[in-house]
Amino acid sequence: MTKQLFHSDPMIRTFDTIIQAISPDRLVVALEATAFYPGGGGQPADGGTIAAVAVVEITRDNDGTIRHHLDCPLPENLNVGDTVMGEINWPHRWEYMQQHTGQHLLSAVLMKEAGANTVSVHQGEKVTTIEVDRANLNDTAIQRVEEVAQRVIAEKRLVRSFQIDSGELGRYSLRRPTGRTGIVRLVEIQDFDIVACGGVHLEDTAEVQLVKTVGVESIRGNLRLAFLIGQRALADYGTKHRNITAAAELFSTRPEQVPLRVTAMQEEVQQLHRTVRLQNRRIAELLLRQPEDPAGVRRYDNEPEDLFTALVEVAAEDPLSRVALVNTRRDTGSIHWAIVFGEGENTSPFPQKVLREKLLKPLDARGGGRPPLWRGVVAADKLEAFIAGFLKILQEEQALSH
Ligand SMILES: [Zn+2]
Repeated sequence: MTKQLFHSDPMIRTFDTIIQAISPDRLVVALEATAFYPGGGGQPADGGTIAAVAVVEITRDNDGTIRHHLDCPLPENLNVGDTVMGEINWPHRWEYMQQHTGQHLLSAVLMKEAGANTVSVHQGEKVTTIEVDRANLNDTAIQRVEEVAQRVIAEKRLVRSFQIDSGELGRYSLRRPTGRTGIVRLVEIQDFDIVACGGVHLEDTAEVQLVKTVGVESIRGNLRLAFLIGQRALADYGTKHRNITAAAELFSTRPEQVPLRVTAMQEEVQQLHRTVRLQNRRIAELLLRQPEDPAGVRRYDNEPEDLFTALVEVAAEDPLSRVALVNTRRDTGSIHWAIVFGEGENTSPFPQKVLREKLLKPLDARGGGRPPLWRGVVAADKLEAFIAGFLKILQEEQALSH
């Protein structure tokens, strides 16, 4: 069984120890003692180096032997019995000790302040989530949880771990019962929380620094709360401060006024959209008074898409309208087309199949619709063929209906 330095002193960053085993390919190493946490309890395994070779994975055998899987073979001059130096990736470890210890603290506060028991936890790369057995927690309750957690952080309560025999468990009032037998490791936040846990933790609550709830969602009838903890919360504060300051400068206002200004701007934009729609409609009505050229065709050159849509919509309101509208788009070099085929009294229904087979398919044109309106796109060099094809269909229909 490997001696677990991460438990006796979770603050060890570098350590010297003796090599106990090396795999034949020299890619897996077991040591007499290690500071590499092998992962567990939602906390990821450590990275780092052994003899300056990167450690990519840590596994633990049933007998407690911890194996370090290396990125490339251990140097040839190192053999079983030699002393070797290990160094763990400290920023990574620190980040996850903050997440993990912060989670202990938050789970304890959630239980004490909101009667919410932790069901599961996950320490992700961006947020730490805690699922609790409550269907609802209102904003006030969540705010209260944050405030109490922050108070306990400021109180700098010691976090300590120790081992007992499971027979002694009755002496402790654990936040969550454990089914473990034999040696049980307990982790205590001084006079505040105690649970069984095999993870690695900070030395006191002050090191958690800051907690912030950033998400609440329902899951399986429970609530899943997402938190930013420690450096992550501080980094997020910095980012948000920069962004809100930049937004306030854009509005020439104070940061707290930004939401009001955004709301006002949204209303203004909606009003402008309504005005533009109305104006487009009026312009369309005027343009549609001009004669078709030739009969059955209306050509437009690079009109804005909104105005073209208004033209098509107004044209489609006339049940006797039978016309193709085409708009040459200079930005895309394509033609936006619309066919309005009113089915006023005593007229035959539009031959959709003919449109597809005789017009769209031969010209490789895209589009679709339903009576009385079809819209789509065709390549610019097919414009004249498109118009000729449409006029032919139109003539054939007229011949049929007479
Ligand atoms: Zn723990």
